[in-house]
Parts: sequence; structure tokens; C-alpha cells
Amino acid sequence: MTLDDILKEINSVQSVVILAHENPDGDAIGSSLAMCLALKNLGKDVDVLMNEYPANFSFLPGIENIKNKTDIENYDMAIVLDCPDIKRVPTNLIPYFENAKITVEFDHHNKNSMFADYNIVNHVAPACAQILVSSFEYLGIEITKDIGTCLLTGIITDTGGFKNSGITTDTFDFASWALEKGLNVSNIYREAMLTMSRSKFEAQKLAINRMEFFENGKIAFTYMTKADDAELNVKAGEHDGIVEIGRSIEGVEVSIFLYEKTTGYKASLRSNDYVNVSEVCLMFGGGGHIKAAGATLNMSFEEAKKAIIAEVAKHLK
Ligand code: 5GP
Ligand code: MN
Repeated sequence: MTLDDILKEINSVQSVVILAHENPDGDAIGSSLAMCLALKNLGKDVDVLMNEYPANFSFLPGIENIKNKTDIENYDMAIVLDCPDIKRVPTNLIPYFENAKITVEFDHHNKNSMFADYNIVNHVAPACAQILVSSFEYLGIEITKDIGTCLLTGIITDTGGFKNSGITTDTFDFASWALEKGLNVSNIYREAMLTMSRSKFEAQKLAINRMEFFENGKIAFTYMTKADDAELNVKAGEHDGIVEIGRSIEGVEVSIFLYEKTTGYKASLRSNDYVNVSEVCLMFGGGGHIKAAGATLNMSFEEAKKAIIAEVAKHLK
């Protein structure tokens, strides 16, 4: 099961559906659009299916290929990106995977369940988009400026703007390639990382006001409810970035952000130095990476807050 086999399969199919994890972030969206554009350049019919995505990624080339449903039920191939398990694809989109004749996944999460026919998984890659860079290079699939823009967006967002641990020389090699190719790296960085809508700013303001500290300032905690989202008109993906604020405060080892979902609370965790937050989240049925992970807690707010803080505290030195 190698990349060469996948290329053979790609050459034998016509219709392809691309899926990614729910609440898609820059890596999920950037990887999906890069794959979509690459396959279109090979003459394939490609749809990217997502229920919703954050509006700040509207600048990406190929964004018009993202749909929330299609008339096609049985695609020749389904490719799942940036997703450790098929259960993390939105439930209403899973049938597109199940009905596809051939299934492929590219991912970089810690605990990947190898759920497809072909699984290209590299746990140490800093972004799924980085795996696509090396895969496209290996397969001789041209990385055009548009594809490069999508891939760079995935890499920039998943590395927190080239700063998270886990970045490699490949990361900077690709950024260097992008500059040479004439991509506007600084614009891409600004659009993907810095520009925020007014409602996203209001969400951050509220979350900052509510921030509390525990365990001698080693834990930063904040939250938002559905009522807050409604009042501030906070849209899909606009909670992204809140958890990073707590992490950037001196003395904080783990930052926790809880936000209310239709059922229960989503916990988003980040660590700075030594706590493996993916282990913390695993205790609640979630997962992710060593320094960035999440889980859904089907509990009341008070229970969820208490449980997640207690679990994090066990990992502190
Ligand atoms: P975020 O905090 O940005 O939502 O997620 C951080 C990382 O943890 C991402 O890589 C994301 O895919 C992963 N993650 C978030 N929530 C879950 C979850 O409920 N289950 C698993 N397995 N991974 C999650
Ligand atoms: Mn990712």
C-alpha cells in the first residue's frame, strides 16, 4: 500500500469526493482544496463536502468547490483529509465515504484508526498539508500557485504561524519554495492567521474577560455558551484562536477552552511544554496532538469544567 498504488487508483477513477474533520480548520480546508485542485488538473470530477467553514478562508483558490451536498451518491473514490477516524467526519457526510468504491486518507494525527483502503499517515508531520506537499512531489503532481496557496495555508494554520513544536525543515523549505514561486506569503499569513471578523473579535473579548487561572497559574480556563454565540452572532469556526490566548500567558502550561455544543461541551486544549493534552483528551474519548487536542464532554457546564481541570492537574509538575 504505497503512494504509487494510490496514483494507480486515481488514474482509474473519474469522480472523487473529498471529506475532512468536522469544524474544519485551515489545515482541513487547505488540504481539501489543494487535493481538489490537483485532481481537477488530472481531469477528475471533484467535489469537496463540508457543512460549513470559517469565512476567513474564503480567499482560498478553489473555495467554490466546497458544497454541503451533491446529487451523486456513489463516488468512485473518497479521500479523507486531516482526520484520524471516520467518526470525526460530520455524520451526515459519512455515507459519501461508505458508498465510495475506493477510500483513501492522508492524516497526521496521533491516534489514527487506519480506516480507509489506503492510509497515508505520518504522525510527526506538522500538518496534513505538509504530507500532501511531499506526496505531490513524490508523485510528480505539479504544485501550482493555487495549490501552493492552499497547502501553505494548511501549514501556517496548523503550526500556529510557524511557531508550534513539530515544525521541521520541510516546513521552511516549502515556505521558501512558495516565496520563490511568487506566492504572496505575507498576505496568505495575514488572511489565514490574523484577520478576524468583528464577531470573532467580540468572542475573544468575552473569553478574555472570563479567563480564570488554576493550579498556581499553570492552567488558564475560559468558556462560551450557545447563548453567548447567539448574542454575539459568533459563527462556525470563530472560536478558533481563543484557546491560544490562554496559552500565551506567562506561567500557563495548559490552556482550556470549553464551548457549548448542541449536546454537551467541546473542550479545546493547548499545552506549552510538557503536558500531553492528547492523553488528557483521550480520557474523555477525544484526542489530537501532544500540544493541541480536544474532546466532547457530555456533561453540564459545572461538571465539565471540574472534570477537565482535575484531569489536567494530574499531569502538572
Ligand atoms: P481544536 O482544539 O483546534 O478543536 O483541536 C485540536 C486538535 O485536536 C486537532 O488536531 C483536532 O483534530 C483534535 N481534536 C479536537 N477535538 C477532538 C475530538 O473530539 N476527538 C479527537 N480524536 N480529536 C480531536
Ligand atoms: Mn491538521
